[in-house]
Amino acid sequence: MDYQLLPFRFERFNDTEYLLTNEVGEYIFLQNEDFHRFVNGEMDIHSDLFYDIESKQIATTDKVEDVVSMLATKFRTKKSILRDFTSLHMVVPTLRCNSSCIYCQVARKNRDDHSADMTKQTAKNIVKTIFQSPSPCIKIEFQGGDPSTDFEMVKYIIEEAEWQNLFKKKELDFVICTNLTLLNEKIVKYLKEHNCMISTSLDGPKDLHDTNRPLQDKELDHHAIFEKHLSMIREIWGNNDCASALMTTSKYSLGRFKDIIDEYIRLGFNSIFLRSLNPYGFAKQYKEKIAYPIEDFIENYKEGLDYIIELNKKGTFFVEGFAALLLRRMLTPFATGFVDLQSPAGVGIAGVIYDYDGSVYVSDEARMMARFKNYYFRLGNVNENSYQEMFNGELLHHIISSACTECLPVCSECVFQPYCGADPVRNMSEQGDMIGFRPTNEMCKKTKSIIHYLFELLHRHDPEINRIFWSWLN
Ligand code: SF4
Repeated sequence: MDYQLLPFRFERFNDTEYLLTNEVGEYIFLQNEDFHRFVNGEMDIHSDLFYDIESKQIATTDKVEDVVSMLATKFRTKKSILRDFTSLHMVVPTLRCNSSCIYCQVARKNRDDHSADMTKQTAKNIVKTIFQSPSPCIKIEFQGGDPSTDFEMVKYIIEEAEWQNLFKKKELDFVICTNLTLLNEKIVKYLKEHNCMISTSLDGPKDLHDTNRPLQDKELDHHAIFEKHLSMIREIWGNNDCASALMTTSKYSLGRFKDIIDEYIRLGFNSIFLRSLNPYGFAKQYKEKIAYPIEDFIENYKEGLDYIIELNKKGTFFVEGFAALLLRRMLTPFATGFVDLQSPAGVGIAGVIYDYDGSVYVSDEARMMARFKNYYFRLGNVNENSYQEMFNGELLHHIISSACTECLPVCSECVFQPYCGADPVRNMSEQGDMIGFRPTNEMCKKTKSIIHYLFELLHRHDPEINRIFWSWLN
């Protein structure tokens, strides 16, 4: 053999081709006969195809140590998000909410039930804990319930964090996740003044949005208030970028992705994140009524993505967020932080959540599991435990060591591994342990199918599609 094979994973992509990927996310398609010649050491090292393989560090004619050190540099870049430790800190000022979403994951409280409100002392301890994170960038995201039901507490935390930051001098950002209905001009002006961005939920046109996310007060028209308040927010802010929206797919959303995307465009959004239902809270309890087989979501997702590509071709710039995230991993050497799909998993080390009572969970989903009496992923409580005990304790070490796709069964050999991630909380919730069982794992099925589809699209070599995908990365 005139060349040395370097580590790579491979899988038959279709009847005539194999897909090869390596640890740093480089990929190449080889015809069946080329693949066999390549692995048998019979490929001409002066052919264009071999040059291509060599440029991706899948084989080499040079000294192996030199190529390995180049791969190591690329690998460090891909994993550079690990350097800074936890930057996303989600805080739950209250569990109160004025909606009654059919898939609510947090066992919300009614608006007049103050039994799950945060105290000032707990809030103070949370901010103190947050600023012990070594990360130079801190994002505090208010979750609920709906945090606008206790806006005084949101203000208290913002101002406490700004005060702490006078000394710490980190890059500090705020986000509030709200259904918008309780916002008024005074609140929005405050949010603007403190640079607190708004993240909201929009499930589609009026009938669908109101079915998935009805308000507790049945007299009120949720979608109409949402639309009115969205305009008010944008007017005060002076741009459309201050508010982004997320959608959740219930059974009622299936077959309607085109309507949902059209509604996002009508309301002036330039991106959407097509999300399937998470198996927590009411979504798990009322599974029969609102859930669906993951295959149905995948089918709808592909149709939605095709529709978005067509819109872009016709001149409407509009991004599908999940595809953009995966494409960044597939097409660029850069690191991408997405807590839900990272290796090692982002739980605790990229994002963490502080509940109204000061309990600290490794992710929002872990907090949801605690509502149903599973406290496995609770790191401690800010009123009782030190930062070191919670973030350098045995539990978090154990969770993270069980959450690297590089060494999980099946994932370690999967051709899509460089673009994928582990989710020990979801594995525990769905399959009873942190490792999970890939052949029946819904997350795996979904991610695998979507990455496969993106590769199919890239492999068409359609210059229009490639231009659109690159425009999403910029
Ligand atoms: S979760 Fe599935 S798609 Fe992702 S790396 Fe593991 S086996 Fe591959």
